[in-house]
Amino acid sequence: MSTKKNYNHIENDKQYKGLNVNKGIDQPETFNEDSIQRFLKSKRKKIKTAADYVDGILAGNITTLSQAVTLVESSKKEHQEVAREIITQCLPYSGKSLRIGITGVPGVGKSTFIESMGKHITRQGGKLAVLAIDPSSERSKGSILGDKTRMEELSSDSNAYIRPSPSAGSLGGVARKTRETIVLCEAAGFDTIFIETVGVGQSETMVHSMVDFFLLLMLSGAGDELQGIKRGIMEMADVITINKADGNNIDKAEMARVQYLNALHLFPPTESGWVPKVLTCSAFHHIGIDKIWETIQEYISLVKKNGYFQHKRNEQSKFWMYETINDHLKSDFYQNNALKELTASFEKKVLGQEMSSFVAALELLKNYYQSKKNDQ
Ligand code: GDP
Repeated sequence: MSTKKNYNHIENDKQYKGLNVNKGIDQPETFNEDSIQRFLKSKRKKIKTAADYVDGILAGNITTLSQAVTLVESSKKEHQEVAREIITQCLPYSGKSLRIGITGVPGVGKSTFIESMGKHITRQGGKLAVLAIDPSSERSKGSILGDKTRMEELSSDSNAYIRPSPSAGSLGGVARKTRETIVLCEAAGFDTIFIETVGVGQSETMVHSMVDFFLLLMLSGAGDELQGIKRGIMEMADVITINKADGNNIDKAEMARVQYLNALHLFPPTESGWVPKVLTCSAFHHIGIDKIWETIQEYISLVKKNGYFQHKRNEQSKFWMYETINDHLKSDFYQNNALKELTASFEKKVLGQEMSSFVAALELLKNYYQSKKNDQ
């Protein structure tokens, strides 16, 4: 190699005859101050204020509504602050919808029913929002409403808005988010809100405490052992509907209807003055859907006349105030990092019979209050 020779460019060595290195050109000035500013501005996302969200929601803008619901569902502190502001500003525009809870075991036909009833409502000029309470959805990968194809027609209806259940959090957390989403949907002009839940757990009690009307979907046949639906849930229902009353199932559905009607007679009279009804329908073939809608209207006009509608809403508002306090206190306690280790060690002591459950709890609470005082 000729590295010892002092060539400016190795390419200029004689051995590379035919190769000529020319002087390059200067870098053209593609970036100046103006263009950089323009570039940065285009990249900078416009941060919406709470007022921007509220304007969009009140104008019925679905994209803005969805973004606001995402803020409601977010666990980030800064999102929650904006969400609270949005809700406060939307509150005066809320409350005018009909809130309907729909429950039933998986497979009973909830989404088929919601689609059929939903189309019935939007055809008459109504605007429908469908929400869900399903605290198990993370585990079960979205057993309800997770998959929008379940309500294909309704999903593409411009007068319907479908929002799957917030997937994370405790039942109380999911319920709070759903209740706040109701406020936003109402402010956006939705006059009917469906809240769907699987009728197997505790979630129906939550749904019941946020709706005006509660509909329980049931099946005929299936052993008639109340299909895993607890008595308490039947007691909450304003209407029970036997679904899949079609084909050779019609007679069985009618028999089930009479059976459930007899079962309902055993319950004490309702506070609303309404006598719960049992109906049949075929969500799949759109049979009996109009009758159910009429019955819901009948119920609403009765309870609006006798004052129960407002009474129930007031009770629900109170309930949610206390429920939120409980929820907040609980999460504040369990998220307190200073207490985590102590809680774990007390748990061990309780299990090892070294400490009673009550003493452990009181000690932990004492520590919690002390840590709050220290924070001040
Ligand atoms: P969900 O789990 O409660 O939401 O139930 P789906 O709406 O997904 O329905 C479960 C199955 O029952 C689907 O295969 C539906 O097509 C069927 N189904 C729902 N409603 C009816 C009905 O009225 N009649 C009949 N024959 N089948 C139905």
